[in-house]
Amino acid sequence: MPRLAIIGAGITGLSTARSLAAHPAFGAASLCLFDKGRRPGGRLASRETEFGSFDHGVQRALLGEPAAQIHGAGTLRAWPAADSLSESPSWIAEPTMNRLAQAWSQGLDCRCSVTVTGLARDGHQWRLGFDREQDDALFDQVLLTIPTPQALALLGTAGIENAALSAVRYQPNWTVMWTPSIPLPPTADHWAGTANDPIAWLAREDLKPGRVGPPRLTIQASAAWSIEHLERPADEVAARLISIAAEVLGLPADARPIYASAHRWRYAFVEQPIGVAAFELAPGLYYASDACLGSNVAQALSAGEAAAALIGANIDNA
Ligand SMILES: Cc1cc2nc3c(=O)[nH]c(=O)nc-3n(C[C@H](O)[C@H](O)[C@H](O)COP(=O)(O)OP(=O)(O)OC[C@H]3O[C@@H](n4cnc5c(N)ncnc54)[C@H](O)[C@@H]3O)c2cc1C
Repeated sequence: MPRLAIIGAGITGLSTARSLAAHPAFGAASLCLFDKGRRPGGRLASRETEFGSFDHGVQRALLGEPAAQIHGAGTLRAWPAADSLSESPSWIAEPTMNRLAQAWSQGLDCRCSVTVTGLARDGHQWRLGFDREQDDALFDQVLLTIPTPQALALLGTAGIENAALSAVRYQPNWTVMWTPSIPLPPTADHWAGTANDPIAWLAREDLKPGRVGPPRLTIQASAAWSIEHLERPADEVAARLISIAAEVLGLPADARPIYASAHRWRYAFVEQPIGVAAFELAPGLYYASDACLGSNVAQALSAGEAAAALIGANIDNA
């Protein structure tokens, strides 16, 4: 039975794993996912605090109804208020966005808090290096689903370069989670900025479908603001974005936080995707992620499915 390691348990990695788990030559027992995060999901991220939960990565999945049924794992519900000009409706996972990733990872060998630090050819197999001891290190196939700068660093340990991966550029994003000390006035559940606004998106977490807890907001800075403040300390970023958000929402200047935290996504959104859904870097070594087709849930799912098809076909032809 061929053994496959998937590096990265974000949407792409989990999508590949779910597809291959149903492949006759694989099955879930042949797969092992490694992720440096504490939970699967990657940018499909949520933080649960005593001051309420925050979706500080993906806000909504834009999927057609059939795709939402296939991928929803019983967690998705419609968020009609967030429907934009997009052709697809908006979906939100309950009780947080990250629970979708947790549902997808059920029944898979998904090892979190493990960073893959090295990669080397070993006969016909690939040997992985880790930041902590693992019982498995040798795999017949390896799929990288991590952002391209991290993939290139890992490939470098095996002496592999790749021009398509090197050409990819990402926009960063600063996101702030804020529970204010004063009641919030009734507002829409989200607000989207225009091109020149420092804030790109504001969401009232407590008003999203299926959410409970105190009034609270997730604030996403624009790409330009995030780039300008990329290396500033998180506390300073939180204070600045809260002050801008208070002004946008017409809140008094003393709307101090009882909870505030800023998260920096260094690789948030791909500027120009590669344009190929998944590809082989070397024999038995593959790449797929949202860098392939575009930075959104639907495209990451597609990249993962394409990687599964590519790996499955190579096994069938072997
Ligand atoms: C703030 C923000 C808001 C967004 N909002 C939306 C939205 O509303 N709708 C939408 O459709 N899309 C949204 N996106 C985009 C969406 O999140 C991404 O396109 C998608 O999640 C990418 O999934 P992925 O699996 O390709 O990559 P990732 O989610 O980045 O997964 C890669 C995984 O690899 C792991 N990893 C990296 N290096 C290593 C290593 N060496 N060893 C082990 N593990 C490693 C990481 O921990 C991570 O879990 C948003 C993104 C951000 C940042």
